[in-house]
Amino acid sequence: MPQNSLPGSPSPGRSISNTTPQLPGSAGFFFLMTLLVFLLAGGCRSLTESSGWDFHFSDWIPDWTAQSWFNGSSDDPRYSMGYEPDYVHWFDHFVFVRGSRGQVLRLQRMGDAPPMMLAQDNGAEKIYKVRKEDQQFFRKNGFAILSGGPFLWVDPGLKARKRSRQFRDWMNGYKDNEILERILNHLARQHPTLAQRVRIGTSVQDRPIYALRISRNYSPAKKSLMFNSGHHGMEVLSIDYSLDVACLLLNESCYPHSIYMPTDLRDYILNNFVVWIIPMVNPDGLHRFWNHSGYMGRKNANGVDLNRNYPFYWKSWNNLASSGSAASYKYRGPEPGSEPETRAMMDLARKHRFLMSFSFHTYATRVLFPYTADGASNPYPDPAKYFASTIARHGISYRTTRQYEAARKLYSVDGTDQDWLYHELGTMALIVEGSMSTPSWENALKSIAGMRPVSLASLENLKSGPRLELEITDPSGRPLPEARLVLNSRTWFEQENWPRADQNGKIHVFLVPDETLYAEIQAPGYRSRSFRMQCNKVCVQRFQLTPTR
Ligand SMILES: [Zn+2]
Repeated sequence: MPQNSLPGSPSPGRSISNTTPQLPGSAGFFFLMTLLVFLLAGGCRSLTESSGWDFHFSDWIPDWTAQSWFNGSSDDPRYSMGYEPDYVHWFDHFVFVRGSRGQVLRLQRMGDAPPMMLAQDNGAEKIYKVRKEDQQFFRKNGFAILSGGPFLWVDPGLKARKRSRQFRDWMNGYKDNEILERILNHLARQHPTLAQRVRIGTSVQDRPIYALRISRNYSPAKKSLMFNSGHHGMEVLSIDYSLDVACLLLNESCYPHSIYMPTDLRDYILNNFVVWIIPMVNPDGLHRFWNHSGYMGRKNANGVDLNRNYPFYWKSWNNLASSGSAASYKYRGPEPGSEPETRAMMDLARKHRFLMSFSFHTYATRVLFPYTADGASNPYPDPAKYFASTIARHGISYRTTRQYEAARKLYSVDGTDQDWLYHELGTMALIVEGSMSTPSWENALKSIAGMRPVSLASLENLKSGPRLELEITDPSGRPLPEARLVLNSRTWFEQENWPRADQNGKIHVFLVPDETLYAEIQAPGYRSRSFRMQCNKVCVQRFQLTPTR
């Protein structure tokens, strides 16, 4: 097993009282709940003395995969249960200790010291990653217990993965900006007719924000979809949820448990859509997480929570939903859309009018549908709730205490990307919270595999409906981009400016099953047309409008 793969089931120890972590998106509540419900499991077997640790690329498939995933008939009780206790954070497992050379030598002479992995060597002073339950032993032997450290101390295997020239090694662990860029370049190079790497913006600290644009016979006339991760830069596992979608579309076996997408679904998506994969919206946060503190990196380099910075319900009436204080983990920024990362996402969305968007986060195990801000009222009937519910039930959390569900909110928020996308463009914009935070990489692989059915179900929904595709033209067949659809059978509360046509005169509407639409197509200078329709699949209709004179 590679040393970067942290053990799968170490026993948690006591929490460190002087640690005040900046918690991931799903907030302290879940952290506390997780600690409360912790189940103790067997000891840690693979954390070894680390001076001169080995990294065997040939062992890149972790043990549990070989034993219990591929063979399917293992004695491992995890296989029959399907779930494990909630080992969702690295800090459930490990602490960092600092000791002098002399202290380390004394421990080595003792012979039976607990396992320790070298995290950083400053010459006379060394920092080790040790099991949380062993921290008292180290304290008694004169080591200082540190309140945290850069994520690189948790996952020093990153350095070895970066030394490798193999794609599968880059994929086999958590990613930083550099390895992620290499992965995107590799996928684009391997699939030149399907994938292009596009730079969509620049962060506060001048780091590029990249997208992988995937389509067959790319044309801007096709409707666009988006899968993004890392609005919160520390939510490093979310990168892989996005990359997994790219790998499915490109037929790449990127993970030990990769599957191939059903051919008809893959063809449908590649032929009809342009899929934008943006694996890291907040590269400055990711850099901070890896190099400064494994508790930091949620916000951008200006200290702004990017998922509170979008204009819809920005600084709403509810002062629990975001904060005006730059010190807060939910600082909304000085004005709506103030941050370059937010603006890059908004510009891209306005240009491509995404039909569907996934914003991956960790680790509430929820598919959140808009509107999530308190006080914002959804159109009725509400296709967003229907869409989220139908895909959430496919997710597998691989946790004992929490399973995937659709929900409107976790806790009060405002200024989120999903609410802005839904309100501004009618995008089926979901915040998809994975099932773990930053667990051992072995457990991360499970979380990735458990998210995959959710992503696939969303694409299947696009293929099977119910939704409406209208093409509005004038009598000569020229598209009418100024057309809009008035849905009289729906009730609206937030002055949404959709459904309206795109530059190709196309209008897309998600529906609820058995919904009867009473609708009217309008365009300035043309006679309106009314129609009534019920559609339980993907219904494609053409309408010609005649000029008023
Ligand atoms: Zn988040």
